[in-house]
Amino acid sequence: MRYISTRGTAPVVGFEEALLAGLARDGGLYVPEEWPVLSPETIASLRGAPYETVALDVLRPFVGGMDMDALKAMIDRAYAGFGHRAVAPLVQMDARNWVLELFHGPTLAFKDLAMQLIGLLFDHVLEARDARVTIVGATSGDTGSAAIEAFRGKARADVFILYPHGRISEVQRRQMTTPTEANVHAIAVEGDFDDCQALVKAMFNDFAFRDSMRLGAINSINWTRVLAQIVYYATSSLALSGGERRVAYSVPTGNFGDIFAGYVARKMGFPVGTLVIATNENDILHRTLETGRYAVEGTVQTLTPSMDIQVSSNFERLLFDLADREGAAVVQMMDELGTTRAMTLPQGQHEALRAGFASARVDRDETVETIRATRRETGMTLDPHSAVGLAAARRFARPDEPMVTLATAHPAKFPDAVRAALDTETPLPERMADLYDRPERVAVLPNDLTAIEDFIRERVSP
Ligand SMILES: *Cc1c(COP(=O)(O)O)cnc(C)c1O
Repeated sequence: MRYISTRGTAPVVGFEEALLAGLARDGGLYVPEEWPVLSPETIASLRGAPYETVALDVLRPFVGGMDMDALKAMIDRAYAGFGHRAVAPLVQMDARNWVLELFHGPTLAFKDLAMQLIGLLFDHVLEARDARVTIVGATSGDTGSAAIEAFRGKARADVFILYPHGRISEVQRRQMTTPTEANVHAIAVEGDFDDCQALVKAMFNDFAFRDSMRLGAINSINWTRVLAQIVYYATSSLALSGGERRVAYSVPTGNFGDIFAGYVARKMGFPVGTLVIATNENDILHRTLETGRYAVEGTVQTLTPSMDIQVSSNFERLLFDLADREGAAVVQMMDELGTTRAMTLPQGQHEALRAGFASARVDRDETVETIRATRRETGMTLDPHSAVGLAAARRFARPDEPMVTLATAHPAKFPDAVRAALDTETPLPERMADLYDRPERVAVLPNDLTAIEDFIRERVSP
Protein backbone atom coordinates (compact mmCIF):
# COMPACT_ATOMS: atom_id res chain seq x y z
CA MET A 1 0.00 0.00 0.00
CA ARG A 2 1.22 3.49 -0.85
CA TYR A 3 0.32 6.60 1.11
CA ILE A 4 -0.59 10.00 -0.26
CA SER A 5 -0.99 13.35 1.43
CA THR A 6 -4.38 14.97 1.93
CA ARG A 7 -2.84 18.12 0.47
CA GLY A 8 -1.71 16.40 -2.67
CA THR A 9 1.87 17.60 -3.11
CA ALA A 10 4.05 15.60 -0.70
CA PRO A 11 5.95 12.60 -2.07
CA VAL A 12 4.02 9.34 -2.11
CA VAL A 13 5.51 7.02 0.54
CA GLY A 14 5.32 3.45 1.75
CA PHE A 15 3.94 2.23 5.07
CA GLU A 16 7.20 2.56 6.97
CA GLU A 17 7.74 6.18 5.92
CA ALA A 18 4.16 7.06 6.81
CA LEU A 19 4.72 5.42 10.20
CA LEU A 20 7.95 7.28 10.93
CA ALA A 21 7.06 10.69 9.54
CA GLY A 22 3.56 11.24 10.86
CA LEU A 23 2.82 14.52 9.10
CA ALA A 24 3.45 14.81 5.35
CA ARG A 25 5.88 17.50 4.18
CA ASP A 26 3.17 19.59 2.52
CA GLY A 27 1.44 19.92 5.90
CA GLY A 28 -1.12 17.26 5.02
CA LEU A 29 -1.90 13.91 6.59
CA TYR A 30 -1.06 10.58 5.02
CA VAL A 31 -3.90 8.39 3.84
CA PRO A 32 -3.80 5.13 1.92
CA GLU A 33 -3.92 5.59 -1.83
CA GLU A 34 -7.15 3.60 -1.80
CA TRP A 35 -9.34 1.92 0.80
CA PRO A 36 -8.82 -1.83 0.68
CA VAL A 37 -12.02 -3.87 0.73
CA LEU A 38 -11.86 -7.28 2.35
CA SER A 39 -13.71 -10.12 0.67
CA PRO A 40 -16.96 -11.29 2.30
CA GLU A 41 -15.23 -14.64 2.90
CA THR A 42 -12.36 -13.03 4.79
CA ILE A 43 -14.76 -10.98 6.85
CA ALA A 44 -16.95 -14.00 7.62
CA SER A 45 -13.87 -15.98 8.68
CA LEU A 46 -13.04 -13.35 11.31
CA ARG A 47 -16.36 -13.61 13.13
CA GLY A 48 -15.58 -14.62 16.72
CA ALA A 49 -11.82 -14.82 16.09
CA PRO A 50 -9.43 -13.58 18.81
CA TYR A 51 -8.52 -9.89 18.74
CA GLU A 52 -4.96 -10.60 17.59
CA THR A 53 -6.14 -12.72 14.65
CA VAL A 54 -8.51 -10.01 13.46
CA ALA A 55 -5.77 -7.43 13.89
CA LEU A 56 -3.44 -9.32 11.56
CA ASP A 57 -6.03 -9.51 8.78
CA VAL A 58 -7.09 -5.89 9.19
CA LEU A 59 -3.50 -4.64 9.10
CA ARG A 60 -2.29 -6.91 6.29
CA PRO A 61 -3.46 -4.82 3.30
CA PHE A 62 -1.97 -1.64 4.78
CA VAL A 63 1.56 -2.62 5.78
CA GLY A 64 3.22 -3.16 2.42
CA GLY A 65 6.09 -5.60 2.41
CA MET A 66 6.33 -6.09 6.16
CA ASP A 67 7.10 -9.65 7.22
CA MET A 68 3.84 -11.19 8.42
CA ASP A 69 5.45 -13.35 11.10
CA ALA A 70 7.16 -10.31 12.57
CA LEU A 71 3.89 -8.37 12.48
CA LYS A 72 2.05 -11.22 14.16
CA ALA A 73 4.66 -11.36 16.92
CA MET A 74 4.35 -7.61 17.48
CA ILE A 75 0.57 -7.78 17.65
CA ASP A 76 0.70 -10.63 20.17
CA ARG A 77 3.18 -8.76 22.31
CA ALA A 78 1.33 -5.44 22.13
CA TYR A 79 -1.82 -6.83 23.71
CA ALA A 80 -0.30 -9.45 26.03
CA GLY A 81 -0.11 -6.98 28.92
CA PHE A 82 -3.76 -5.93 28.78
CA GLY A 83 -5.88 -6.44 31.85
CA HIS A 84 -8.61 -8.36 29.98
CA ARG A 85 -8.10 -11.49 27.89
CA ALA A 86 -10.54 -10.25 25.22
CA VAL A 87 -8.46 -7.03 24.88
CA ALA A 88 -11.62 -5.01 24.04
CA PRO A 89 -14.63 -6.71 25.65
CA LEU A 90 -18.26 -5.83 24.86
CA VAL A 91 -20.62 -5.31 27.79
CA GLN A 92 -24.38 -5.19 27.30
CA MET A 93 -26.17 -2.27 28.95
CA ASP A 94 -29.79 -2.81 27.91
CA ALA A 95 -31.80 -4.34 25.07
CA ARG A 96 -29.99 -2.45 22.35
CA ASN A 97 -27.00 -0.70 23.89
CA TRP A 98 -23.54 -2.13 24.39
CA VAL A 99 -20.34 -0.63 25.72
CA LEU A 100 -16.99 -1.56 24.19
CA GLU A 101 -14.38 -1.38 26.94
CA LEU A 102 -11.22 0.07 25.44
CA PHE A 103 -9.51 0.87 28.73
CA HIS A 104 -7.77 -2.34 29.76
CA GLY A 105 -4.32 -1.23 28.58
CA PRO A 106 -1.48 0.07 30.76
CA THR A 107 -2.62 3.73 30.88
CA LEU A 108 -6.36 3.05 31.16
CA ALA A 109 -7.52 4.74 27.95
CA PHE A 110 -8.15 3.53 24.41
CA LYS A 111 -4.97 5.19 23.14
CA ASP A 112 -3.04 2.15 24.42
CA LEU A 113 -4.62 -0.07 21.76
CA ALA A 114 -2.77 1.78 19.03
CA MET A 115 0.23 3.03 20.96
CA GLN A 116 1.41 -0.30 22.38
CA LEU A 117 1.62 -1.62 18.83
CA ILE A 118 3.21 1.56 17.47
CA GLY A 119 6.03 1.41 20.02
CA LEU A 120 6.92 -2.03 18.71
CA LEU A 121 6.52 -1.05 15.06
CA PHE A 122 8.90 1.89 15.51
CA ASP A 123 11.45 -0.34 17.20
CA HIS A 124 11.19 -2.93 14.46
CA VAL A 125 11.53 -0.48 11.59
CA LEU A 126 14.29 1.62 13.21
CA GLU A 127 16.30 -1.44 14.15
CA ALA A 128 16.25 -2.65 10.56
CA ARG A 129 17.38 0.79 9.35
CA ASP A 130 19.86 1.36 12.17
CA ALA A 131 18.18 4.74 12.73
CA ARG A 132 16.77 6.87 15.54
CA VAL A 133 13.83 9.25 15.86
CA THR A 134 12.75 12.08 18.10
CA ILE A 135 9.08 11.79 18.75
CA VAL A 136 7.19 14.95 19.58
CA GLY A 137 3.53 14.94 20.41
CA ALA A 138 0.78 17.12 21.81
CA THR A 139 -1.68 15.60 24.20
CA SER A 140 -4.89 16.51 25.94
CA GLY A 141 -3.82 13.84 28.42
CA ASP A 142 -4.25 10.31 27.18
CA THR A 143 -2.13 10.20 24.02
CA GLY A 144 0.88 11.42 25.94
CA SER A 145 0.60 8.91 28.73
CA ALA A 146 0.05 6.10 26.25
CA ALA A 147 3.06 7.23 24.18
CA ILE A 148 5.39 7.57 27.14
CA GLU A 149 4.29 4.16 28.38
CA ALA A 150 4.80 2.59 24.95
CA PHE A 151 8.24 4.14 24.34
CA ARG A 152 9.80 4.24 27.82
CA GLY A 153 13.23 2.66 27.67
CA LYS A 154 13.07 2.02 23.92
CA ALA A 155 16.60 2.31 22.56
CA ARG A 156 15.91 4.15 19.32
CA ALA A 157 13.51 6.92 20.27
CA ASP A 158 13.51 10.06 22.39
CA VAL A 159 10.00 11.17 23.26
CA PHE A 160 8.81 14.70 24.13
CA ILE A 161 5.17 15.16 25.04
CA LEU A 162 3.56 18.61 25.29
CA TYR A 163 0.46 18.94 27.45
CA PRO A 164 -1.58 21.97 28.58
CA HIS A 165 -0.32 22.95 32.02
CA GLY A 166 -2.94 22.43 34.71
CA ARG A 167 -5.58 21.16 32.31
CA ILE A 168 -5.24 17.42 32.54
CA SER A 169 -6.22 15.02 35.29
CA GLU A 170 -3.75 14.10 37.99
CA VAL A 171 -3.67 10.47 36.89
CA GLN A 172 -2.93 11.53 33.32
CA ARG A 173 -0.16 13.83 34.50
CA ARG A 174 1.41 11.29 36.82
CA GLN A 175 1.39 8.64 34.11
CA MET A 176 3.58 11.02 32.08
CA THR A 177 5.76 12.49 34.80
CA THR A 178 6.63 9.40 36.86
CA PRO A 179 8.38 7.10 34.36
CA THR A 180 12.08 7.30 35.19
CA GLU A 181 13.57 6.33 31.83
CA ALA A 182 15.82 9.07 30.41
CA ASN A 183 14.40 8.90 26.87
CA VAL A 184 10.90 10.16 27.81
CA HIS A 185 10.06 13.77 28.70
CA ALA A 186 6.86 15.49 29.80
CA ILE A 187 6.56 19.21 28.98
CA ALA A 188 3.82 21.30 30.57
CA VAL A 189 3.05 24.16 28.17
CA GLU A 190 1.50 27.37 29.46
CA GLY A 191 -1.44 27.23 27.07
CA ASP A 192 -4.32 24.99 26.03
CA PHE A 193 -4.34 21.83 23.96
CA ASP A 194 -4.77 23.66 20.68
CA ASP A 195 -1.61 25.65 21.53
CA CYS A 196 0.27 22.40 22.12
CA GLN A 197 -0.99 20.98 18.87
CA ALA A 198 -0.01 24.17 17.01
CA LEU A 199 3.51 23.98 18.49
CA VAL A 200 3.94 20.43 17.28
CA LYS A 201 2.73 21.37 13.82
CA ALA A 202 5.14 24.32 13.82
CA MET A 203 8.05 22.04 14.71
CA PHE A 204 7.18 19.80 11.79
CA ASN A 205 6.98 22.78 9.48
CA ASP A 206 10.40 24.00 10.64
CA PHE A 207 12.24 21.73 8.21
CA ALA A 208 15.70 22.50 9.55
CA PHE A 209 14.66 21.45 13.03
CA ARG A 210 12.59 18.58 11.72
CA ASP A 211 15.46 17.11 9.73
CA SER A 212 18.24 17.65 12.26
CA MET A 213 16.14 16.14 15.06
CA ARG A 214 14.67 13.40 12.80
CA LEU A 215 11.20 14.20 14.08
CA GLY A 216 8.49 11.60 14.14
CA ALA A 217 4.91 11.96 15.30
CA ILE A 218 2.69 9.58 17.17
CA ASN A 219 -0.22 11.97 17.52
CA SER A 220 -3.49 10.99 15.97
CA ILE A 221 -2.14 12.58 12.81
CA ASN A 222 0.00 9.44 12.53
CA TRP A 223 -1.84 7.11 10.17
CA THR A 224 -0.84 4.03 12.18
CA ARG A 225 -2.94 5.26 15.11
CA VAL A 226 -6.06 5.19 13.01
CA LEU A 227 -5.04 1.89 11.48
CA ALA A 228 -4.69 0.04 14.78
CA GLN A 229 -8.06 1.38 15.93
CA ILE A 230 -9.93 -0.16 13.02
CA VAL A 231 -9.48 -3.54 14.67
CA TYR A 232 -11.95 -3.10 17.50
CA TYR A 233 -14.67 -1.90 15.15
CA ALA A 234 -14.04 -5.10 13.22
CA THR A 235 -14.23 -7.43 16.23
CA SER A 236 -17.25 -5.74 17.80
CA SER A 237 -19.29 -5.23 14.63
CA LEU A 238 -18.81 -8.88 13.71
CA ALA A 239 -19.78 -9.97 17.21
CA LEU A 240 -23.09 -8.09 17.13
CA SER A 241 -24.14 -8.00 13.50
CA GLY A 242 -25.17 -11.64 13.24
CA GLY A 243 -24.18 -11.51 9.59
CA GLU A 244 -27.09 -9.31 8.47
CA ARG A 245 -27.62 -6.10 10.31
CA ARG A 246 -25.20 -3.24 10.75
CA VAL A 247 -23.90 -2.03 14.07
CA ALA A 248 -24.03 1.64 15.07
CA TYR A 249 -21.31 3.34 17.12
CA SER A 250 -21.27 6.33 19.38
CA VAL A 251 -17.75 7.69 19.73
CA PRO A 252 -16.61 10.30 22.27
CA THR A 253 -14.75 12.53 19.86
CA GLY A 254 -11.91 15.02 20.11
CA ASN A 255 -9.38 14.82 17.31
CA PHE A 256 -11.65 12.65 15.14
CA GLY A 257 -9.12 9.81 15.04
CA ASP A 258 -11.14 7.14 16.78
CA ILE A 259 -14.32 7.72 14.81
CA PHE A 260 -12.36 7.97 11.57
CA ALA A 261 -11.16 4.41 12.23
CA GLY A 262 -14.84 3.41 12.30
CA TYR A 263 -15.32 5.09 8.95
CA VAL A 264 -12.41 3.10 7.52
CA ALA A 265 -13.78 -0.15 8.98
CA ARG A 266 -17.03 0.57 7.14
CA LYS A 267 -15.10 1.26 3.91
CA MET A 268 -13.31 -2.07 4.30
CA GLY A 269 -16.59 -3.95 4.38
CA PHE A 270 -17.19 -4.50 8.08
CA PRO A 271 -20.85 -4.19 9.16
CA VAL A 272 -20.49 -0.72 10.65
CA GLY A 273 -23.63 1.44 10.38
CA THR A 274 -24.34 4.87 11.84
CA LEU A 275 -21.32 6.63 13.34
CA VAL A 276 -22.36 9.12 16.00
CA ILE A 277 -19.87 11.90 16.74
CA ALA A 278 -20.37 12.54 20.46
CA THR A 279 -19.00 15.90 21.60
CA ASN A 280 -18.91 17.83 24.84
CA GLU A 281 -19.40 21.63 24.97
CA ASN A 282 -16.52 21.96 22.50
CA ASP A 283 -18.93 21.06 19.78
CA ILE A 284 -17.33 22.24 16.55
CA LEU A 285 -18.00 18.93 14.81
CA HIS A 286 -21.62 18.85 15.93
CA ARG A 287 -22.10 22.39 14.66
CA THR A 288 -20.44 21.44 11.40
CA LEU A 289 -22.93 18.64 10.86
CA GLU A 290 -25.81 20.94 11.73
CA THR A 291 -24.75 23.95 9.66
CA GLY A 292 -22.09 22.90 7.15
CA ARG A 293 -19.77 25.49 8.63
CA TYR A 294 -16.62 24.47 10.52
CA ALA A 295 -16.06 27.47 12.75
CA VAL A 296 -13.44 27.55 15.50
CA GLU A 297 -14.46 29.03 18.84
CA GLY A 298 -12.44 29.22 22.06
CA THR A 299 -11.87 25.92 23.83
CA VAL A 300 -13.73 25.61 27.12
CA GLN A 301 -12.73 23.31 29.96
CA THR A 302 -15.18 20.50 30.59
CA LEU A 303 -15.48 17.29 32.59
CA THR A 304 -13.96 15.51 29.60
CA PRO A 305 -10.52 17.05 28.99
CA SER A 306 -9.52 14.54 26.33
CA MET A 307 -12.22 16.03 24.13
CA ASP A 308 -11.47 19.70 24.82
CA ILE A 309 -10.38 20.32 21.27
CA GLN A 310 -11.54 22.72 18.60
CA VAL A 311 -9.42 21.88 15.58
CA SER A 312 -9.86 18.15 15.05
CA SER A 313 -6.79 17.23 13.05
CA ASN A 314 -8.11 13.97 11.63
CA PHE A 315 -11.15 15.69 10.20
CA GLU A 316 -8.85 16.63 7.34
CA ARG A 317 -8.71 12.98 6.36
CA LEU A 318 -12.47 12.90 6.00
CA LEU A 319 -12.46 16.25 4.18
CA PHE A 320 -10.09 14.72 1.65
CA ASP A 321 -12.59 11.98 0.87
CA LEU A 322 -15.50 14.43 0.90
CA ALA A 323 -13.58 16.53 -1.65
CA ASP A 324 -13.22 13.47 -3.92
CA ARG A 325 -9.58 13.16 -2.85
CA GLU A 326 -8.58 16.46 -4.48
CA GLY A 327 -5.60 17.71 -2.49
CA ALA A 328 -5.93 21.20 -3.97
CA ALA A 329 -9.48 21.51 -2.62
CA VAL A 330 -8.27 20.52 0.86
CA VAL A 331 -5.45 23.08 0.69
CA GLN A 332 -7.97 25.76 -0.18
CA MET A 333 -10.22 24.82 2.73
CA MET A 334 -7.36 24.61 5.21
CA ASP A 335 -6.06 28.00 4.05
CA GLU A 336 -9.50 29.46 4.61
CA LEU A 337 -9.55 27.90 8.06
CA GLY A 338 -6.09 29.26 8.81
CA THR A 339 -6.91 32.83 7.88
CA THR A 340 -10.56 33.15 8.96
CA ARG A 341 -10.80 30.43 11.66
CA ALA A 342 -13.71 28.97 9.74
CA MET A 343 -14.57 27.19 6.52
CA THR A 344 -17.79 26.36 4.77
CA LEU A 345 -18.34 22.94 3.27
CA PRO A 346 -19.79 22.95 -0.23
CA GLN A 347 -23.36 21.70 -0.11
CA GLY A 348 -22.57 18.31 -1.63
CA GLN A 349 -19.88 17.70 0.96
CA HIS A 350 -22.13 18.74 3.80
CA GLU A 351 -24.76 16.29 2.59
CA ALA A 352 -22.20 13.51 2.23
CA LEU A 353 -20.98 14.22 5.76
CA ARG A 354 -24.52 13.95 7.12
CA ALA A 355 -25.12 10.76 5.19
CA GLY A 356 -22.11 9.10 6.80
CA PHE A 357 -22.29 10.47 10.33
CA ALA A 358 -24.67 11.68 13.00
CA SER A 359 -23.71 13.93 15.91
CA ALA A 360 -24.76 15.05 19.36
CA ARG A 361 -23.56 17.59 21.90
CA VAL A 362 -23.68 16.48 25.51
CA ASP A 363 -23.21 19.06 28.23
CA ARG A 364 -21.88 18.73 31.75
CA ASP A 365 -25.24 18.13 33.46
CA GLU A 366 -26.19 15.39 31.05
CA THR A 367 -22.76 13.79 31.43
CA VAL A 368 -23.09 13.70 35.20
CA GLU A 369 -26.67 12.45 34.98
CA THR A 370 -25.61 9.68 32.59
CA ILE A 371 -22.90 8.51 35.00
CA ARG A 372 -25.50 8.43 37.79
CA ALA A 373 -28.24 6.71 35.80
CA THR A 374 -25.83 4.11 34.46
CA ARG A 375 -24.62 3.30 37.93
CA ARG A 376 -28.20 3.06 39.22
CA GLU A 377 -29.45 0.91 36.36
CA THR A 378 -26.46 -1.34 35.68
CA GLY A 379 -24.02 -1.00 38.57
CA MET A 380 -21.35 0.07 36.11
CA THR A 381 -19.18 3.16 36.67
CA LEU A 382 -18.54 5.09 33.46
CA ASP A 383 -15.77 7.58 33.01
CA PRO A 384 -17.09 10.99 31.85
CA HIS A 385 -15.92 10.57 28.22
CA SER A 386 -17.72 7.27 27.91
CA ALA A 387 -20.77 8.91 29.52
CA VAL A 388 -20.79 11.55 26.79
CA GLY A 389 -20.76 8.70 24.31
CA LEU A 390 -23.59 6.82 25.96
CA ALA A 391 -25.77 9.93 26.30
CA ALA A 392 -25.31 10.60 22.57
CA ALA A 393 -25.99 6.93 21.76
CA ARG A 394 -29.37 7.06 23.46
CA ARG A 395 -30.50 9.83 21.12
CA PHE A 396 -29.91 7.68 18.08
CA ALA A 397 -30.91 4.20 19.16
CA ARG A 398 -32.69 2.49 16.28
CA PRO A 399 -34.41 -0.87 16.50
CA ASP A 400 -32.56 -2.30 13.51
CA GLU A 401 -29.03 -1.36 14.56
CA PRO A 402 -27.51 -2.44 17.86
CA MET A 403 -25.62 0.54 19.30
CA VAL A 404 -22.10 0.31 20.70
CA THR A 405 -20.68 3.15 22.78
CA LEU A 406 -16.91 3.24 22.91
CA ALA A 407 -15.81 3.39 26.56
CA THR A 408 -12.62 5.31 25.95
CA ALA A 409 -11.24 5.53 29.49
CA HIS A 410 -11.35 3.75 32.82
CA PRO A 411 -13.21 5.74 35.50
CA ALA A 412 -10.14 5.73 37.75
CA LYS A 413 -8.40 7.94 35.21
CA PHE A 414 -10.89 10.76 35.90
CA PRO A 415 -11.67 10.34 39.61
CA ASP A 416 -12.75 13.97 40.18
CA ALA A 417 -15.53 13.79 37.63
CA VAL A 418 -16.65 10.43 38.93
CA ARG A 419 -16.61 11.72 42.51
CA ALA A 420 -18.67 14.74 41.45
CA ALA A 421 -21.28 12.44 39.95
CA LEU A 422 -21.35 9.54 42.37
CA ASP A 423 -19.67 10.72 45.53
CA THR A 424 -17.52 7.58 45.51
CA GLU A 425 -13.85 6.83 44.99
CA THR A 426 -12.72 4.73 42.05
CA PRO A 427 -9.59 2.81 42.91
CA LEU A 428 -6.79 2.41 40.39
CA PRO A 429 -6.20 -1.15 39.21
CA GLU A 430 -3.75 -3.05 41.40
CA ARG A 431 -0.84 -2.82 38.96
CA MET A 432 -0.63 0.98 39.26
CA ALA A 433 -1.82 1.42 42.84
CA ASP A 434 1.36 3.30 43.88
CA LEU A 435 1.03 5.96 41.14
CA TYR A 436 0.34 8.73 43.65
CA ASP A 437 3.53 7.93 45.58
CA ARG A 438 6.05 8.01 42.72
CA PRO A 439 8.19 11.17 42.25
CA GLU A 440 7.35 13.41 39.29
CA ARG A 441 9.65 14.92 36.66
CA VAL A 442 8.30 17.68 34.38
CA ALA A 443 9.42 20.89 32.65
CA VAL A 444 7.02 23.84 32.60
CA LEU A 445 7.69 25.90 29.46
CA PRO A 446 6.07 28.96 27.86
CA ASN A 447 3.86 28.69 24.78
CA ASP A 448 6.84 29.56 22.60
CA LEU A 449 8.31 27.58 19.73
CA THR A 450 11.94 28.60 20.27
CA ALA A 451 11.89 27.72 23.96
CA ILE A 452 10.51 24.29 23.21
CA GLU A 453 12.84 23.57 20.32
CA ASP A 454 15.82 24.57 22.48
CA PHE A 455 14.67 22.28 25.27
CA ILE A 456 14.40 19.36 22.88
CA ARG A 457 17.68 20.04 21.10
CA GLU A 458 19.56 19.94 24.40
CA ARG A 459 18.13 16.58 25.39
CA VAL A 460 18.09 14.46 22.25
CA SER A 461 20.56 11.56 22.22
CA PRO A 462 23.09 11.86 19.38
C1 LIG B 1 -8.37 10.74 23.00
C2 LIG B 1 -9.63 10.52 23.73
C3 LIG B 1 -10.87 10.79 23.14
C4 LIG B 1 -10.99 11.41 21.77
O1 LIG B 1 -10.51 10.57 20.75
P1 LIG B 1 -10.15 11.18 19.33
O2 LIG B 1 -9.54 10.07 18.57
O3 LIG B 1 -9.20 12.29 19.57
O4 LIG B 1 -11.43 11.67 18.73
C5 LIG B 1 -12.00 10.46 23.86
N1 LIG B 1 -11.93 9.92 25.10
C6 LIG B 1 -10.76 9.68 25.69
C7 LIG B 1 -10.75 9.12 27.06
C8 LIG B 1 -9.57 9.95 25.03
O5 LIG B 1 -8.40 9.68 25.62
